[in-house]
Parts: sequence; structure tokens; C-alpha cells
Amino acid sequence: MKKKQDHFETAVIHQGYDSKNMLGSLTPPIFQTSTYTFENAEQGERRFAGEEEGYIYSRLGNPTVRVLEDRMAALENGEKGLAFGSGMAAVSAVLIALTKANDHIVCSSGLYGCTFGLLTMMEEKYNIITNYTDMKTKAELRAAIKPETVVIYVETPINPTMRLIDLQMVAEVAREYHIPVVVDNTFSTPYLQRPLDLGCDVVIHSATKYIGGHGDVIAGLAVGKESFIDLVARTTQKDIGGVLSPFDAWLLIRGLKTLPVRLDRHCDNAEKIVEKLKDHQKVAYVYYPDDEKNPDISITEKQMKRGGGVISFEIKGDKKVAQQVLNHLTFLKIAVSLGDAESLIEHPATMTHAVIPAETRQGMGITDQLIRLSVGLEAWQDIWSDLDQALNKI
Ligand SMILES: *Cc1c(COP(=O)(O)O)cnc(C)c1O
Repeated sequence: MKKKQDHFETAVIHQGYDSKNMLGSLTPPIFQTSTYTFENAEQGERRFAGEEEGYIYSRLGNPTVRVLEDRMAALENGEKGLAFGSGMAAVSAVLIALTKANDHIVCSSGLYGCTFGLLTMMEEKYNIITNYTDMKTKAELRAAIKPETVVIYVETPINPTMRLIDLQMVAEVAREYHIPVVVDNTFSTPYLQRPLDLGCDVVIHSATKYIGGHGDVIAGLAVGKESFIDLVARTTQKDIGGVLSPFDAWLLIRGLKTLPVRLDRHCDNAEKIVEKLKDHQKVAYVYYPDDEKNPDISITEKQMKRGGGVISFEIKGDKKVAQQVLNHLTFLKIAVSLGDAESLIEHPATMTHAVIPAETRQGMGITDQLIRLSVGLEAWQDIWSDLDQALNKI
């Protein structure tokens, strides 16, 4: 890897690409090719044997995608990155690479709905059992670990309840047992939180969210030790095939350049909206990582730069009333996903988290009156006035 840029704001723009190698092209070219020609048969043999660097076929690597992978590896402070066609392609490739039939996984209680779906499928198909725990203390985590445990899987902040898990604490316990810790860092991005610096082993992203940042691409990323990322590249990614297209990689390279600028604004706006929501008489509770009422605020202060752009809040009322709030909005968009320029609002119990059985869901704190808001880049006053008028109508 080339010299690492010292500052995050510079690295998001320059890391992993040198225009000198690309005819002076300021932005990385899109290598829209499926395959690469060999000069002779022996070169083909050497490439396949791994004796010579170079491209073979775009499912095994592509120069545009490589720029993104190198840049993300540097931003997460990891050795190597790997890009995927979706966040779920990254999650599944990493988890399948780390497990075999009858293994055991320890997971944070509360996670992305489709990841929950994948873990359930792995249990049904391969008897890989997952136990969910709050990971509040070392003792609680140690109690969840079994001889067959091969992965600890963590999301923090936990979507949509914004509880947090102390990543350094988890990494310390995992090291005692030599179990890798995988962190889904989608909500924070490396700008706000760097799990590898805290001792965790693999970071996963749905790059669909803040990394892309413009609501126009589905993509995933994984970053970790070179030996592990190489293993994923030549096994679960190569043979299951969830690769990223060169054009989508190019969109992500473009999105990444403004990540720090965008996230600062997302956080500024979110902080304003949190204060307003807390004062609103129709709102029962506001969930935000960097709010003094969050029981885990000390963990936020320890491991996150700022609280991020996603807020959840409970309204006074039931499911019908929560749906009415959404229906009364005039310009805020009702949509799942997050991290876009547009503010996006959704109802977790019937949308993103509907796949989780009702009882488990309620145990995770996802009530029928909970609403999730991904605060966009619009003027916060406009976001608030739309929310305020919708809340006042219920
Ligand atoms: C969206 C999301 C995913 C899945 O990513 P896709 O790009 O939609 O496949 C995984 N984890 C988290 C936390 C997410 O928000």
C-alpha cells in the first residue's frame, strides 16, 4: 500500500490513487471490462498461480474497485479492503468464511434485520447457533462464549434503539479466547468510529448508506487483516460472487470525498432535531447516541467522535398514530435506508425490523410507536418544521 495520508479529510480524496499511473486522469477511470488479456499462455499460468501481480477477470479484481478498496482500508486503519455488490454480500461473505456447520456465534442483541435473517438461515441450514447478548459487561460476554464460538458479531450504535457496545471491552474479552470480532460500522463510518483501532478484527459496511451518501448505489465493504481479506476474496467472494461493479465503485469513490463534510452536517442537524424532539409534547422518548439521557453516553464519548445522523423517537400513541405521523409529512420522504442527502423516515416495527418475530423485536426495544429518522443535509429548520406540523396533527 502507498504512503498513508495523515489526515482523514485528505485521505478520503487522495488515498490509493495516483493520477500519474492513469494518463493524468484526475478522477479514477472506470475500467468497464469483464476480463484482462494475457501477453502469452505462460503469463496466464503465472497469474492464476499467484506468481505474478495483475488482473485476470473482474470477479477476482478490477482497478477501479481496487482504488475504493485501498482507500477504505486506509480510512479504517486496516491492512486490506474488499468491496461487494451490497452490504449483505459483505456480511454473508465474511460470516460464511468464518464459520462451518455446528459452530456458534455470539451477537449483539439488536442488529440489522437481514443480518438477523442470515443468521437464522445459517442456523436452519448448518446448525450454526447464534446467541444474542447485550454485552454490557465482560462477565456477560464471557458467559455467552462457548467452546464452539468462532465469531463475535457487533453492531454499535444499535439500530434503531441507539444503545452502544464498548468495542474495546469486547475486543479484550475476545482476545482471551482468540475469537475474531466483526463490527458492522455502517452507522458511524470510519469518520466517527474506528473499530480496528479499538482491537476489533473485521469491519463491515453497507456502503449504500453514508459512504455513497447520495442514495444511488447498493454496495458493501469489508476491511481487516490482509490474510483474512485475501481468504474471503478467494473463497466466499470469488465463489459466491457478490462483487461490486466498476461504475458503482466509481460512485462510491466520488461519495467518499465529501464524507467528513457531509457527516459534520448530518451530526449538526441531528443534534438540533434531537433538542427539538425532546421538547415536543407528542414525543415520549428520543434515542440518540450523544444525548445525555442515553444510558450508554459514556461509551459514545469513549469511542465515537460524534453521535451520527440517525435518531429514533417514540411518539405518544400506538402503531396507527406512528403511521399517521409519517403520512402527515409534506416533504420528508418515507423510505428505509439512511445516510442520504434527503432526510428519510421509517417505521422499524413494520419495515426494517418486520422480519424479526414480534416478541424478540419488542425485547430489543423496537416498539410499535418507534419512528426512525435519518437526518439529511437540508436546512434543519425545514426538517423540523415538517416534523413539527406532522406531530401536531396527531
Ligand atoms: C443497510 C444495512 C445493511 C445491509 O446493507 P445493503 O447495502 O442494503 O445490503 C447492513 N447493516 C446495516 C447496519 C445497514 O444499515
